[in-house]
Amino acid sequence: MLHIALHFILPLVVALAVWRPQWWRNYLWMLGAFIIDLDHLLADPIYDPERCSIGFHPLHSTYAVMFYLVVLVFSWFWPSISWRQRAQVLLLGIGLHLFLDALDCFF
Ligand SMILES: [Zn+2]
Repeated sequence: MLHIALHFILPLVVALAVWRPQWWRNYLWMLGAFIIDLDHLLADPIYDPERCSIGFHPLHSTYAVMFYLVVLVFSWFWPSISWRQRAQVLLLGIGLHLFLDALDCFF
């Protein structure tokens, strides 16, 4: 339960620290990182607190991380500044999400 709570708390702390007073919009974009947990629907059971997500679920794999990094690099060249920022905030959220999932593999 603490693990899931941290998925909400860490992006909140980052958003409040970096984007005040417009923190809530970027906070919601970072929460959009939960979309990569859709790959849990392919697993049986869908959620297993003892399982390490990193490397097990397709959107938590090394290939997925490489894809996120490629999108991050290409996002710097997107013509729309607002969409570039949204994408980068979402990717930051995905990075925090994967970091918390990786922490869960050690404890
Ligand atoms: Zn996850």
